[in-house]
Amino acid sequence: MSNYDVIRERLEAGELIILDGGIGTEILRRNLSWADHQVTGSPDAIRGLHEDYIRAGADVITTNSFQLARRSFLSHFRDEAHMRQVGAAELGARAAEMLAASVELAKEARANVAAGRSVAIAGAVTTLEWCFRPDLAPPAHEMRSEYREIMDVMAEAGVDLILLETVNSVTEATVGLEAARQAGLRCWVGFVCDERGALFTGETMADAEKALAPLEPDAVLVNCVPPDDATTGLRELLAVRSGPCGVYPHIGRFDPPEWFFTDEYPPPRLLEEARRWREMGARVIGGCCGTTPDHIRALATGLNS
Ligand SMILES: [Zn+2]
Repeated sequence: MSNYDVIRERLEAGELIILDGGIGTEILRRNLSWADHQVTGSPDAIRGLHEDYIRAGADVITTNSFQLARRSFLSHFRDEAHMRQVGAAELGARAAEMLAASVELAKEARANVAAGRSVAIAGAVTTLEWCFRPDLAPPAHEMRSEYREIMDVMAEAGVDLILLETVNSVTEATVGLEAARQAGLRCWVGFVCDERGALFTGETMADAEKALAPLEPDAVLVNCVPPDDATTGLRELLAVRSGPCGVYPHIGRFDPPEWFFTDEYPPPRLLEEARRWREMGARVIGGCCGTTPDHIRALATGLNS
């Protein structure tokens, strides 16, 4: 059985799966710039971060690939011709190369420290435009081909599953999930919700579940929201979905383009919240922006005892 087969079987059986914590914010906290994702600039730091999450007890680790898409580079230029004319060489292929490198670093970390435990690697993919602005999303036909391009690179690089995260519209979730399934990949979908537990488009968790169910996501989660909103979103989600659900909130405040760390939720307090999520029925629990390996260790130790 593959690493993810083991995890998936546990998930289906109702066991708790621990997801890792913040990646981009943890890079910042370690005094590295977020620019270039550091997958090629500081590979040792990124591999080390994945290793720390595995040692902390994460069953699933996520690649450092937030918004690595061709569009992220192209959007700085008038069009493709302008990018070719004035951009750095090979910019058109940069996203794919960095995606593959991000997967490679996660695989190396697992080989180094998983020590026989089943640890799955989730390729992290988010919205193609800014993740809190579903109104900026490209038309569905563009979304379809761009997601397909990303998923094919992820599959080729050898991820165990896709974590389609920080999504807040049903269309983006459906198109992304479909692309993952077409690339032969299992997929978890993570939604951002507002304080009422609805998506930013006004769509509900019921709308989302209805659209996603035929595409068989292995888990649906709430992510990148403060713990209180996570509780509300999780409650809405559990009310409409019988399959595996989960939650991984952020801690602190978004301070564009970086993150403002707060001490509102030290590991023991996050564990307290997580105990409630587990009782409510969450089967996947981890952390988003601002969470650290210490938070994940507290969850893995506290929730599994
Ligand atoms: Zn986040």
